[in-house]
Amino acid sequence: MDVRSAARTIDPATVATRRDLHAHPEIAFEEVRTSGIIAERLRILGLEPRTGLGGTGVVAILDGAHAGKTVIARADIDALPITEEKDVDYRSTVPGRMHACGHDGHTAILLSVADVLTRHRSELHGRVVFVFQPAEEIVRGAHAMLEDGALEGIDVDHAVGLHLTSMQPTGVIAVRTGPAMAAADRFDLVVRGSGGHAAKPQETVDPVVIAAHVVIALQSLVSRECDPVDQAVVSLTSIAGGTAYNVIPDEVHIKGTLRTFASSTRDRLRERIIALATAVAEAHRGTLEVTWTDGSPAVVNDGAITERIRRVAAEVVGDEHVLEMPLSMGGDDMALWLERAPGCYFFVGANGGAATAYPHHHARFDIDEASLPIAVEALTLSVLELTRP
Ligand SMILES: [Zn+2]
Ligand SMILES: [Zn+2]
Repeated sequence: MDVRSAARTIDPATVATRRDLHAHPEIAFEEVRTSGIIAERLRILGLEPRTGLGGTGVVAILDGAHAGKTVIARADIDALPITEEKDVDYRSTVPGRMHACGHDGHTAILLSVADVLTRHRSELHGRVVFVFQPAEEIVRGAHAMLEDGALEGIDVDHAVGLHLTSMQPTGVIAVRTGPAMAAADRFDLVVRGSGGHAAKPQETVDPVVIAAHVVIALQSLVSRECDPVDQAVVSLTSIAGGTAYNVIPDEVHIKGTLRTFASSTRDRLRERIIALATAVAEAHRGTLEVTWTDGSPAVVNDGAITERIRRVAAEVVGDEHVLEMPLSMGGDDMALWLERAPGCYFFVGANGGAATAYPHHHARFDIDEASLPIAVEALTLSVLELTRP
């Protein structure tokens, strides 16, 4: 059987694995059962998985029969802290845990790709590095695996991965060259004043008023200090302080996120958020404490590699079903694997109608399983393409 037919006919196994993982979801860095299943399945294929990387990550290497390039094929494996509301027979068996982003599908897809490629080793060039990554939803898994030496001693040429998406219909593959998903950083601001009686503001430094000025000031950064053709978002997503009607509190806490594509924009906005918020607080006799947490950088797809993936996608779904992926302000730590080696992260449509049209992270989210064989075929052919010398 040729590779393409094999990729399609493995579908019942992909579906069964996906449903099993869906019923037993595990969140970031708790993917013990999941990574156990992954390792066991890889061993059955005759591979020698390295486990426990960055906590619960798994890596396995498959050498082809011919010389060629080394390619990372990455899947994320974690679920979300959500209680599932769908009524399907593979629904989550764990309250407060749900595969609401499709990572159960990604894991099953990559296991099937490993299965197909292992059986077609004679047609494979180079080397495939299968990466099963934990904790994508908190964008810490890739970093943890890399810190733990997941790629130590491996000279990687390219990286490839996919995300199922309910934003595109089944049968569509969406691809984008260059920046595709945003760098997502977060920050905590503590505005400190000096509290007191609400009727005697002159004896206080009111952090509530200062916080209000900080919020407004930060909203001018993107509109007045960024190039309009560059994309960036500053969102302040939480503001908390005070407990009573007649008490001015000592401090107010603000949480926010910065989303950018260009690293120069990211660096400049980080510097300006801190400087402007500090200056505003001080101008009103208060102080500001900033805790900045770097997220993953932007997902950037390599131009030449993405062209090759686009051609592979056209072979699988037909040229007219390969679309340009819209730029996303969401983040994904696939970015860190793509920083190691030029590659492509592409999106496979998994919306088959009302039941699978919910947005990602929704308590009724589901994938159209008809997308699974498409994804297996596209990823298998992508790996074969990129491993060619
Ligand atoms: Zn997600
Ligand atoms: Zn996801």
